[in-house]
Amino acid sequence: MSGPLLKVENLTKHYPLGAGFLKNKMPVIRAVEDVSFSVEPGETLCIVGESGCGKSTVARLLMRLMEPTGGRVLVEGTDIAGLKKGALRASRRRMQMVFQDPFSSLNPRLTAGEIITEPVENFERLSRKQRHALAADLLRKVGMSPEMIHRLPSEMSGGQRQRTAIARALALEPSLIIADEAVSALDVSVQAQILNLMMDLQQRMGISFIFISHDLSVVEHIGHRVAVMYLGRIVELAPCGALFAKPVHPYTEALIAAAPVPDPERVRPDVPLEGEVPSPINPPSGCAFHPRCPLAIARCRAEVPPLIPMADGRVVACHVRAPATGAHEHPSAMVDPTLSGEIASIR
Ligand code: ADP
Ligand code: MG
Repeated sequence: MSGPLLKVENLTKHYPLGAGFLKNKMPVIRAVEDVSFSVEPGETLCIVGESGCGKSTVARLLMRLMEPTGGRVLVEGTDIAGLKKGALRASRRRMQMVFQDPFSSLNPRLTAGEIITEPVENFERLSRKQRHALAADLLRKVGMSPEMIHRLPSEMSGGQRQRTAIARALALEPSLIIADEAVSALDVSVQAQILNLMMDLQQRMGISFIFISHDLSVVEHIGHRVAVMYLGRIVELAPCGALFAKPVHPYTEALIAAAPVPDPERVRPDVPLEGEVPSPINPPSGCAFHPRCPLAIARCRAEVPPLIPMADGRVVACHVRAPATGAHEHPSAMVDPTLSGEIASIR
């Protein structure tokens, strides 16, 4: 296959606030604004940012669980908005989700075996024997004993529940798994096991991941690239190593400074993240980060900074750290923040 597995162009989602007749006069929550990125086969793209910045909304839009206000989602070059029911079902089959809380996403009345094989049985009938063989195989793939097949979610540890959720996601052999805060509720040691499991599955099966987390420190070891979101927008998208070695956007810098990373070698940027995230109903003018930014200048209050490609393959939206030059002012130069050849260079 050539080209990205997934391409997102100018994705936007405004949630209406309340119901009324004057639809276009209604205030809205600007959950996602003009988000563009792509995911290559076998790649892990992480999306990070504080709670409420729009990460889960992006995930729901990718799964087409709701309509975007604007923009497009292309799966292997096909716009999913145009798909009819059957084709949409097939496309959904290629993308699966794993959520933060397996207690609410796993049916408490079903056994591990039933939970894991259910997605397949929505598509085809399985004999008892086939069902058992499939469940046992999937349990092994996620590092669980096939003897767990009869366990209920209430009889499992948090890590086992999340492994069961991953096994269920694997059942349909997807090309992409979207993991939304999938390790956030787990103890640190269990988090590491689940992250290792995902990386191992990726190596063996070539699966792409979109790994969503509010915690920058968990993405460091699993991400190939990281997109940092602030109030609905991507402010920096960079190869993982480059992002942690040298954050460019002041918000990325502050997030890294705030994350507890046990690495004495690393020079910690000295930027405290002060104040609250502003409301997405009435976001600040210009760069939405300007009220919290130690570097803000007058231009930051007036103009939304565009994403500017940097020499090392990252894109940054910051008037101070990534000022637009003449060469960058042509809008077509910044439509897609994913630069070609970038993936090869970070592997
Ligand atoms: P994150 O996953 O980064 O915490 P979300 O995508 O859940 O962020 O939410 C982004 C913004 O959209 C938040 O302000 C949230 O309150 C709002 N929001 C999320 N879902 C809905 C919804 N169904 N209706 C209205 N507002 C929503
Ligand atoms: Mg969320």
